Amino acid sequence: MDHATLASMTTLRLGGPVANALRVSDPDDWAELVRTIADRQEGAPLTLGHGSNVIASDAGHEGTVVVMNTRGITAKRLDDTTVAVTVQAGRPLADLTSWAATEHLAGIECLAGIPGTVGAAPVQNAGAYGQQISDALDHLTAWDWDMGRLRTLPAQACRLRHRDSRFKNAPGRWTVLTATFHLTRSPAAPVTYRPLADELGVDLGARPSVAEVTAAVLANRHRRGLLLDPHGPDARQAGSVFLNPPVTAGQAARWSAAGCPVHTDSDRQLRASAGWLLEHVGYRPGSKIADGVHCSERRTLTLTARDGATSAGFTRALAELSAKVEATTGITLRPEPVLIGT
Ligand SMILES: Cc1cc2nc3c(=O)[nH]c(=O)nc-3n(C[C@H](O)[C@H](O)[C@H](O)COP(=O)(O)OP(=O)(O)OC[C@H]3O[C@@H](n4cnc5c(N)ncnc54)[C@H](O)[C@@H]3O)c2cc1C
Repeated sequence: MDHATLASMTTLRLGGPVANALRVSDPDDWAELVRTIADRQEGAPLTLGHGSNVIASDAGHEGTVVVMNTRGITAKRLDDTTVAVTVQAGRPLADLTSWAATEHLAGIECLAGIPGTVGAAPVQNAGAYGQQISDALDHLTAWDWDMGRLRTLPAQACRLRHRDSRFKNAPGRWTVLTATFHLTRSPAAPVTYRPLADELGVDLGARPSVAEVTAAVLANRHRRGLLLDPHGPDARQAGSVFLNPPVTAGQAARWSAAGCPVHTDSDRQLRASAGWLLEHVGYRPGSKIADGVHCSERRTLTLTARDGATSAGFTRALAELSAKVEATTGITLRPEPVLIGT
């Protein structure tokens, strides 16, 4: 990968030059890649999948960037209903969810349509529509750059929390190589998310087929502007720019009385809707925040990069939005994408 830039590796298409970029397509090449990086004596590389959850520095990256493009998938029956599915890190998560739907395997159907790779999904415990990676992950293998060896981590050791994990908090230490999920040959997991129940026309707790839930999730994401469309004004984006912020019981009562959706996450933490808070302080779909930085046409919580955008301008826009929300509501917004680069 000559003359690579972070812009060419990320969905926001922002970010400067990269000193070295290595694309890994064959798992058997891993040992040689580790030797190459050791020879360069430059420390751990920056690992990327599809770059759909990062804001990459305009200055680029001085070290090596490793782009995971390994694709393999193997399935092993454990008992009458459970199948262990091991997936290489570079496989698109969307491929995995559509394969599981075809195989009638439940456990990850609500994750359909989330951009990016399987290896990145545990990094922020990717989730949507009431389901997250931690619901189905059994274990993963990862290269530990600190210890210089391959590690097998049971899901519990990954410290998967709401959009968080031990990997997100230790940038550069880990490269996830494979993830193994335990999926079940059964109807989909019970529907727990109201908009999904409405999309399916079922009650909460219903268990439609995996294929029905997968299709409903994709349709709902399409309508809400949650799919990554490489064309059009919202093509350059990294999804939601802020996490739904944790709030105290007092803040939850006050802001939900004002109309703000508040939910309890899987860690039993109350969270307010970041999108509602942005709209409360005046932003709307399509709002211009700065030169080249707009709210997406369909969704205030997604910011898009357009002509003239820079990574510095994009992060300044995030700071402006969160400062305005904090000044008006006292609630602190934190960016969801990871800031990367030099
Ligand atoms: C339109 C849109 C919708 C989205 N919707 C959702 C959603 O519903 N739910 C959700 O959770 N997320 C969502 N996201 C965010 C994003 O898709 C996920 O976080 C996804 O898991 C990122 O995958 P990636 O391969 O693009 O990771 P990248 O952006 O390449 O990397 C993200 C982080 O993970 C690290 N990383 C990447 N691969 C590896 C690896 N193999 N080993 C170790 N570290 C690695 C990177 O260094 C970086 O810190 C959305 C994004 C977009 C653009």
